[in-house]
Amino acid sequence: MSTVLVLYMPVIHETYLELIDSQRWDEIFIIENSLAIELVDSLRKDLRALNAETVKSILVRRDGARPAFVVSGATAIFDQSTQFVLPDEDVSHAFAKRFLHGREVEFRNVFLRYDRKRTTEPFEPNPDEVITTDQFARDMIARCDELATKSPDWWRQIGGLIVKEGKIIEELQMFNEAKPFGMVPYELGDPRSNFKKGLHPDLTLVLHVEQGLVSEAARLGIALEGADLYVSTFPCPWCATAVAYSGIGRVYYRDGYAMLDGEEILKSNGVELIRVVEP
Ligand SMILES: [Zn+2]
Repeated sequence: MSTVLVLYMPVIHETYLELIDSQRWDEIFIIENSLAIELVDSLRKDLRALNAETVKSILVRRDGARPAFVVSGATAIFDQSTQFVLPDEDVSHAFAKRFLHGREVEFRNVFLRYDRKRTTEPFEPNPDEVITTDQFARDMIARCDELATKSPDWWRQIGGLIVKEGKIIEELQMFNEAKPFGMVPYELGDPRSNFKKGLHPDLTLVLHVEQGLVSEAARLGIALEGADLYVSTFPCPWCATAVAYSGIGRVYYRDGYAMLDGEEILKSNGVELIRVVEP
């Protein structure tokens, strides 16, 4: 039985090459650009995308012995005894659905690009530390919970606060709240109610607690360099970016999930992530 790799490869970066080098493929098929667009319409916006023929010729030049082909809709006919491996992403699933029905297919979990799934799927963050016994940290999270109960956002109540030199900054204790006033969704309706959880999270009237804290600190002239943020739920990607560039040194959180590059942007800015859990 032969094993082949089928993939959409719009650019050449290390992770694509690692996948290609991860085993000895009998053949490599690069999904042709117009077929990829036919399968996943949003790929027409991928301005980076190299022509599949160009990618093929680079691969062949890099490793002449390895046969690489461009697969278009018309040529997607495969030998019955072939085993297929595809990266686990939207275009691969669409390809398999159309052309590989009933065949042996493995979707390999490798992050090559932000497809729809990688863009919208929540995942468990990897904290630098998990603490259970630190009484101060647990008290701060309990205070966040208390603040959260004041949030008029019934669907998602989140509290947060800033600690500097071991003390809560009195003015920097907040909860998420619609602006310009907390009850505005009850007056005009909540735009979030038009979407399922996780979809279009930017379309909201609510100021997230982390952005509220960073903005309020700027207004009051309180530097956040080296400060600690305590928040009941892990920051969303937009808040993570604001926090990462605000100077905040540590984020203490209890639950929640990371999305998009939220965790990565914090870590790459040297922000320590500490999860506070009950013992
Ligand atoms: Zn947020």
